[in-house]
Amino acid sequence: MSELAQKLLQNLYSPTFAGEDPRAFFAREDVDPLTHAFEKKMVIHAGVGGQVLAKEVYGPVMDELLSQPRQGPSAVYIHVPFCESHCLYCGFYSRPFRQTDSQIFTDALLREIELWRDRPAVGSGPIHAVYLGGGTPTALAAKDIQRLLKAIHAGFPLANDCEVTVEGRIHNFGPEKLDACLEGGANRFSIGVQTFQTELRRSMNRLSDQQTVLDTLFRLKRCDRAVVVIDLIYGFPRQSMDLWIKDIELFLSLEIDGADLYQLNVFKKGPLDQAVADGKLPPTADLPRQALMFAEAVGCLEKSRCRRLSMSHWGRSTRERNIYNHMMKGAASCLAFGPGAGGSLGGHAYFVENDYIRWLETVKKGEKPVSMLAAPHRFHRLYKALAAGFDLGGVDLARLDNEFNQPITAMAEPLLRQWHRCRLIDVRDGWLELTLAGQFWHANLAQLMIDYLHFNLERKID
Ligand code: SF4
Repeated sequence: MSELAQKLLQNLYSPTFAGEDPRAFFAREDVDPLTHAFEKKMVIHAGVGGQVLAKEVYGPVMDELLSQPRQGPSAVYIHVPFCESHCLYCGFYSRPFRQTDSQIFTDALLREIELWRDRPAVGSGPIHAVYLGGGTPTALAAKDIQRLLKAIHAGFPLANDCEVTVEGRIHNFGPEKLDACLEGGANRFSIGVQTFQTELRRSMNRLSDQQTVLDTLFRLKRCDRAVVVIDLIYGFPRQSMDLWIKDIELFLSLEIDGADLYQLNVFKKGPLDQAVADGKLPPTADLPRQALMFAEAVGCLEKSRCRRLSMSHWGRSTRERNIYNHMMKGAASCLAFGPGAGGSLGGHAYFVENDYIRWLETVKKGEKPVSMLAAPHRFHRLYKALAAGFDLGGVDLARLDNEFNQPITAMAEPLLRQWHRCRLIDVRDGWLELTLAGQFWHANLAQLMIDYLHFNLERKID
């Protein structure tokens, strides 16, 4: 899901470099910063796209990247493009699942993994996280889930403490598939619950009721062989503050290992947008209301001594680490497989062919289906460090100044001063720290700072 998101989200926000005037990057003044600091959320994941290369050079450039030993934190991402139903709010649904897809898809995926298996960039340094995402990996048949996980363990140099996540949904995730995941070596489940409330779930076309959700989570927890985290979403139509807090309280009472709290994004012309426009559903929560829901949830989780692992992710137990998600915010390498998967190698970003049939045919021919390849900007590592820092709630500005040998703090000073005045950040001992309001707007702040520095650094050097 997150991989396709990257592509879609780039379309939501095009930076407007308003010359050198920092006011274009300022927050609104004299308003409640939590609810009104900005007019809209600009992006979900902050960053600067690279320089997209000409199609003719994909082969030679990829070949060169694969011939170098991989260095630093690294992950493997596998994209399973199928879902058994289309959840109303989802912009990442790509293909309905049919039982016959499972084996054909898994055979091709194993072939795709095989194509890179002996390359130095694959077999070198350890892999710290594996993520089976989608779509719905748990839609695949148990035997296919197991052989895929086994092939991953056999084909990549996984670190001893490698986080191996299977993303799943409640529907059709029975004991046989759970055993297949565990036998295959999965040690973390990320389950899309979104809300525990049966009526809300049904209104979003989620298939299972609250009792089934709870039974499944109890079953996962009871086996005690893997971390269990869930996704919850705030901002659905008819989701009152009361219902939202009930979801948080229910999560806390289950004592599973962690939760991701996501703000609802309404994709323009998507099924949810259409249902609201047609009057079939009341409107979704607006941004100020979402900000209040975010703040209430933060209050509840802090009171329960949950650990903050990122601006959206919380650990309830010490077993939860959230390694993959955090690595993907920074400059880690990611070896990507499956139609629509996004990866990065040597700072270059790439996408695997998104069209399922073209992906199948290309893999069958024995070729890696790369559909986009972009070279990194010269300050790519700085921008990634900023995006990762904002996602953790704080940026060590003094360290960035030294590490990148650029006057980052001095350059960003007009923004830092204005955002501090607007109660979005504090600056202490060389660190930028987000206030509660800043946490809600963290992606905007990260994107604005990256854009501002990008403009100034490029100008300084040219
Ligand atoms: S199962 Fe997940 S990826 Fe599929 S439509 Fe629902 S939310 Fe989207």
